[in-house]
Amino acid sequence: MANKSHYRVIILGSGAAGLTAAIYAARANLEPLVVEGCQPGGQLTITTDVENYPGFAKGIMGPDLMEEFKRQAVRFGTETIFGEVTSVNLKQPPFQIVAGKENLICDSLIVATGATAKLLGLESEAKLMGHGVSACATCDGFFFKDKKLVVVGGGDTAMEEATFLTKFASDVNVVHRRDTLRASKIMQDRAVKNPKISFIWDSVVDKVYGDPKAGGVTGVRLKNLKTGETQDFKTDGLFVAIGHEPNTKLFVGQLDLDPAGYILTHDGTKTNVLGVFACGDVQDHVYRQAVTAAGTGCMAAIDAERFLESQAH
Ligand code: NDP
Repeated sequence: MANKSHYRVIILGSGAAGLTAAIYAARANLEPLVVEGCQPGGQLTITTDVENYPGFAKGIMGPDLMEEFKRQAVRFGTETIFGEVTSVNLKQPPFQIVAGKENLICDSLIVATGATAKLLGLESEAKLMGHGVSACATCDGFFFKDKKLVVVGGGDTAMEEATFLTKFASDVNVVHRRDTLRASKIMQDRAVKNPKISFIWDSVVDKVYGDPKAGGVTGVRLKNLKTGETQDFKTDGLFVAIGHEPNTKLFVGQLDLDPAGYILTHDGTKTNVLGVFACGDVQDHVYRQAVTAAGTGCMAAIDAERFLESQAH
């Protein structure tokens, strides 16, 4: 239950962007409310070691890092509630937010609902997530020095991740469900020319082998969609690179979105609605890093504070 119904700032989402916005808004005495969403802590909670977040020379576990973010936000007066927002009305401030049974209003809104990596939807994939299964090469590639890897997907993300992973892995095998890539020509060429990358066409991964408690992924089962044949394939890791989906369904028709569904921002974190700001992966399909999400979260809180200040005069 929220402590009150009217807030100066409500923040939707509790990943790196949302909680950084909360730290800044709380320290500006705006007493923000964070609605945590369906995955409290955001995408970092499905990774294990985070080694590229500045300030943690020895690395930190993703869930622990997000717990620290939250503690820091709460320390300065952020209120958090569990639950998901089911509808928003952004016609004019104060904005209306419905989260479960709660009817909330706010003078400014920060949208930090993130993006969700698309996954294959296999039970074995979920079981081994963070234990050899990953949806982020930048985050986890480093853990696969001289290892054998499988990347699933045929778009730019898959080509980019496969190419990046060759910096570490002994070989990278791209599994694609068709026999032509969707990726742009330049990204295709780069991957095809890379001697460490090979392609397995017309195939999908339909099972991941391994034990999360004993070394993680050991292999995958490949199914050829043309012949129906299956084969076991040894690998130390599986990178699923079949795209991301921004969590913006709530805002369709209210906020301007790009063709892929990401919120369009201008002049920092401003959206097309005065008083509504967006930060983190919900408005960024390019960088998608915890530190960039945190950076835009800070910007959104400062933008919201300035907006509220301007309304007071
Ligand atoms: P895309 O939607 O472009 O590609 C997704 C790929 O995954 C496709 O090849 C698709 O196969 C495959 N796929 C989808 N679902 C499944 C599934 N369930 N099982 C197996 N395979 C599946 O997503 P991307 O993330 O690659 O790219 C998104 C956007 O971001 C694009 O516009 C891209 O150009 C851009 N981008 C640009 C980059 C750059 O310029 N540096 C880097 C990364 C992304 P199929 O082809 O058969 O549909």
